Amino acid sequence: MSIKIENLVHIYMAGGPFEKKALDNINLEIKDGEFVTLIGHTGSGKSTLIQHLNGLLKPTSGRIVVDGVDITEKNVKLTEIRKKIGLVFQYPEYQLFEETIEKDIQFGPRNLGLSEEEINKRVKKAMSMVGLDYEEYKDKSPFELSGGQKRRVAIAGVVAMEPKVLILDEPTAGLDPKGRDEILAQVKQLHKEYNMTTIIVSHSMEDVAKIADRVIVLNKGKAVLDGVPRDI
Ligand code: ATP
Ligand code: MG
Repeated sequence: MSIKIENLVHIYMAGGPFEKKALDNINLEIKDGEFVTLIGHTGSGKSTLIQHLNGLLKPTSGRIVVDGVDITEKNVKLTEIRKKIGLVFQYPEYQLFEETIEKDIQFGPRNLGLSEEEINKRVKKAMSMVGLDYEEYKDKSPFELSGGQKRRVAIAGVVAMEPKVLILDEPTAGLDPKGRDEILAQVKQLHKEYNMTTIIVSHSMEDVAKIADRVIVLNKGKAVLDGVPRDI
């Protein structure tokens, strides 16, 4: 799936005393199958930008066109968009709400109306891709996990939907170097296997050099650099 961001502006609390322009006229085109890393300092607008890509926020102005459809239009069915554009939040707790890990990961694929057999197949595959042993983890509560494990569950839940676009907000945050390398290798593998358009948000160039085809740097709500990792 291709994504075109046109003149996107996002102002939080517009018109109020604490008005904050988080995105300042962003123009970007992400091609089908591309692997992009979005980097920038804290507060540069990364999370704001990606939340626009699956319709979680409404632009102050500008539009986002996904495979030719303007998803900022009033009549667009966001539930349909979200089946195709999977977003793993910066804080994975937001995505974990069932009493067991298995149920949490089943949630997305179940919304796609798949058979139980297909759902279970996908859950097992997604868990193995993020490095969680199915038998060991399936009945555990997501709340008893470490931060890194919760992140893996949240990623598995989105991956099990087999979205056309996979967006991960700081998937390596809070992980040790080994965990970080594992997650990045798994994301790379997912990209290869499903050829999904992939966007990883990160603070760190280190992650970028390893895996992305393209790096976009945000600074104070503007896209200030865009290129292949070795040139940046
Ligand atoms: P981080 O690396 O810390 O996650 P980020 O690049 O993801 O940062 P955003 O979360 O997009 O940055 O925030 C961009 C700006 O918008 C920041 O100045 C932030 O304070 C502000 N902001 C973000 N969310 C809100 C909100 N819900 N209400 C008001 N201001 C917000
Ligand atoms: Mg963020």
